[in-house]
Amino acid sequence: MPATRLDGKALAATMRAEVAAAAAARAAAGRRPPGLAAVIVGDNPASQVYVRNKHRACQDAGFASWVHTLPAATTQAELLALVARLNADPAVHGVLVQLPLPRQIDEGAVLRAVAPAKDVDCFHPENVGLLATGHPRYYPCTPHGVVQLLHRNGIATAGREVVVVGRSNIVGKPLALMLAQKPTAANPAGGDATVTVAHTRTRDLAAVCRRAEVLVAAAGVPGVVTPDMVAPGAAVVDVGTNSVGGKLVGDVHPAVADVAGFLSPVPGGVGPMTITMLLVNTLAAAG
Ligand code: NAP
Repeated sequence: MPATRLDGKALAATMRAEVAAAAAARAAAGRRPPGLAAVIVGDNPASQVYVRNKHRACQDAGFASWVHTLPAATTQAELLALVARLNADPAVHGVLVQLPLPRQIDEGAVLRAVAPAKDVDCFHPENVGLLATGHPRYYPCTPHGVVQLLHRNGIATAGREVVVVGRSNIVGKPLALMLAQKPTAANPAGGDATVTVAHTRTRDLAAVCRRAEVLVAAAGVPGVVTPDMVAPGAAVVDVGTNSVGGKLVGDVHPAVADVAGFLSPVPGGVGPMTITMLLVNTLAAAG
């Protein structure tokens, strides 16, 4: 029997309706809408698509949304000046600087310049520290999207073997942290799982992955997870978004659907969940 589809598009629609209802309630009470400012530097086509999608999602949810597009030659000082302006603007609750940034700009310096309270991506070291110590101000969007996709589809992680392929600061590392943490009132998304993090130096990746009852692929390598790497019935979440010949493909080989119990599609899996979690964070930032 083919794997049950973990439909991120449908779940995202449900959760966005919840967020939109909360925004409408704020408006009815005469409060200003949650506001997200996105900054994009240069003309990276993938970044433009991401920012456009985030902007649209904000508008659909009744949020205020601004996109600041700066030329590729923007200096670090110019970008920092814009971030400072957005930090000081009371209508802006969330500030997002789309990565990657051009070479002349120190990415870390820019991420550290975003006011932690407005850091709805959860990239600022203060927010990463709060997450790591079990008192998150915000959850990072893609990892939180993965956790919601699992939990809201009834896939438990507590006490189970979870393998995360990838250890980046944006996806693998914070996701592994969240899945391993004890759930508390302050940290409800803690997954209580036994987590293994795999990467390019992992010996026998296939054997490590086969241990997983829940397997998350976040390597950025098309089709790197093949059916022989998946335990029958495992839940597999595909974070990968890779462009191959103009087509969007994941990190999980399509034939995994014949082995896995659950599988998230690409597109229509984690992608829409990521943007939804950004809306959730922006709403929370608005207070
Ligand atoms: P990244 O920074 O390139 O990190 C990739 C990680 O995967 C690294 O830790 C790397 O190991 C590991 N890896 C790469 N090839 C591997 C292999 N053959 N075997 C085992 N491990 C391997 O990428 P990222 O930013 O985490 O993104 C990962 C994927 O998710 C990309 O396709 C990206 O486009 C996608 N993504 C999707 C969303 C979404 O909303 N759907 C959001 C963010 C990212 P080393 O550390 O050893 O190099």
